[in-house]
Amino acid sequence: MKFTFPPAPQPSVAIAESGERFPVRRIFCVGRNYAAHAREMGNDDRDPPFFFTKPADAVVGDRAVIPYPAATTDLHYEAELVVAIGKGGTNITQAQALSHIWGYGVGIDLTRRDLQRAAKSAGKPWDMAKGFDSSAPCGAIHPASQVGHLASGRICLDVNGVIRQDADLSDMTWGVPEIIAALSGLVELAPGDLIYTGTPEGVGQIKRGDTITVAIDRLGSLTISLA
Ligand code: MN
Repeated sequence: MKFTFPPAPQPSVAIAESGERFPVRRIFCVGRNYAAHAREMGNDDRDPPFFFTKPADAVVGDRAVIPYPAATTDLHYEAELVVAIGKGGTNITQAQALSHIWGYGVGIDLTRRDLQRAAKSAGKPWDMAKGFDSSAPCGAIHPASQVGHLASGRICLDVNGVIRQDADLSDMTWGVPEIIAALSGLVELAPGDLIYTGTPEGVGQIKRGDTITVAIDRLGSLTISLA
């Protein structure tokens, strides 16, 4: 095949304790998956979660220095468990879901909250609030064959050393098997897909010069800073 110009590099994420990298195909995200966060955003915690996407090349790794994004004065962090899919499929059952997971990582769903607020009130799409450049920091992927599957465990985020989010994965409204079952009923999942599984309460604003660290039990941590 002859391309008219060189294709973009394959987006990828580090794999823990390995020289190999996890090739990223697509990035899916779950909205409102922790009841207390849904409430802090003014939503009914009984609403079912829903999905949005970010471009695959929005992914950046541990220690990334991210330029403060354009077109916002209200950039927010959202600490999230990231599920890395290793085996694709459609209409995956909850019982089969875990067998489709390659591993897990620590992520941040960076959000231009002012643009999201405007989109929500105008009934417009969230894409530009969620899917901007470098909006999907993700730490090293830990293989499920080594860390097992994560249904519980502490997830916490600090900004410049001050804890701002501190919750447990078991607080999720929809667990990982339910997320995979629901998402695979909407699209055919494929190896390389990442799923950001939603954030607990305590979201807030970050500014130029801030350093943000997220940690999840068994998955280590992810640190980024804003330039
Ligand atoms: Mn989120």
